[in-house]
Amino acid sequence: MGLIVQKYGGTSVRDIDRIRHVAERVAGVKKAGHDVIVVVSAMAGETNKLVGWANELTELPDEREFDLLLSSGGRITSALLAIALQTIGYPAQSFTGRQAGIITDFAHGRARIARITGERIRAALEKGKIAVVAGFQGIDEKSDVSTLGRGGSDTSAVALAAALGADLCEIHTDVDGVYTTDPNIVPEARKLDRISYDEMLELASLGAKVLQTRSVELAKKFDVPVMVRSSFNENAGTLVSKEEKEMEDVVVSGIAFNKNEAKVSVIGIPDRPGVAMRIFRTLADANILVDMIVQNIGRDGMADLTFTVSKEDLPKAGKIMGELQKELGMQEIHVDADIVKVAIVGVGMRSHTGVAAKMFECLADAGVNIEMISTSEIKVSCIINAKYFELAIRELHKAFGLEKWEIHHEKKYPSRP
Ligand code: ADP
Ligand code: ASP
Ligand code: MG
Repeated sequence: MGLIVQKYGGTSVRDIDRIRHVAERVAGVKKAGHDVIVVVSAMAGETNKLVGWANELTELPDEREFDLLLSSGGRITSALLAIALQTIGYPAQSFTGRQAGIITDFAHGRARIARITGERIRAALEKGKIAVVAGFQGIDEKSDVSTLGRGGSDTSAVALAAALGADLCEIHTDVDGVYTTDPNIVPEARKLDRISYDEMLELASLGAKVLQTRSVELAKKFDVPVMVRSSFNENAGTLVSKEEKEMEDVVVSGIAFNKNEAKVSVIGIPDRPGVAMRIFRTLADANILVDMIVQNIGRDGMADLTFTVSKEDLPKAGKIMGELQKELGMQEIHVDADIVKVAIVGVGMRSHTGVAAKMFECLADAGVNIEMISTSEIKVSCIINAKYFELAIRELHKAFGLEKWEIHHEKKYPSRP
């Protein structure tokens, strides 16, 4: 007997039938003798609907009101699930983020959890109840409701598991586990039995939304084993856990991509101290997150600089660069939203050579030009033109032997365009 935290995402609680089904699954765990905390997201589409309503009123809603609005989705589901559990004879109690004692910082819309008191949850568990917590929310030190950023219910679940000393945190979603790449886009993707925190962290931060990045950071920090599995079947999922020695034998575990980046290039920028500082300080002050940065070696006192930002931030970044152009003496500025980032990830890269070379070779063979490259210890990312996206992902998948066995051996690949 132990304590299990289960999280159910939006599609898993999309309607009353699904909520009934979730209640049955949760009841099964309770019946087996475990204590259970369930974290629920808003019903699928609800959060977007709420965002849409606020945006009908104004483009920039007040942060405090916006967070209260968005937090309501998870509350509705938590109450409905508690009712569903009670209906089938299992005592249950729902909790908002505040009632669960989830205290965050003041960064509304993307708040970080500072601590979890959790007394009321402990009390409910002690009384034999199932605790149902509204995901993706907490309160700040002034008691205003805060939300944890899109996908934040994953983080609520892992944080509760860490704070209450759960034995396992299960993330129930609409896929069977963590795949070598997004199975909804690449049918050849293969489910992984295990993946290390570091690899999952890279995949998540590169855009694999199956787990919110912050949830993986917390899981790693507090050593919470996370099992990603489907809420629609009983298939074994993927265990996200500490690195084991044999994980290094697999050079590349997965491929991630991000279609939401855009590129800003400056051709001809004075090669002197303070220029990069001025550009990136101004972007940072405008709350623009910069991802990749590449500067070439200066020639004749001038250099070229390229960086990427999210597509939403591109207009703002372009405007800022335009304003700085004269002051800094930049010759030309180009923006390009028609790009995608693809990346290979694997802890085995630490001990194997030639991994980047193989990636570049694979892209070259497919006729894909690489526009930018960046690496970390366990990742190589490339920016390429968006039109090559699917081709690149498929070819990389093949090159690194990531496909499903059956498919690998039986399927004839369509010829390249
Ligand atoms: P939930 O609503 O349950 O939180 P999400 O939509 O946030 O679910 O995350 C699940 C989705 O993540 C899947 O439907 C899949 O399209 C996507 N995804 C992206 N990369 C991966 C991957 N490597 N493995 C599994 N799923 C992935
Ligand atoms: N309520 C959702 C969640 O918790 C927010 C979202 O739709 O991304 O994860
Ligand atoms: Mg999610």
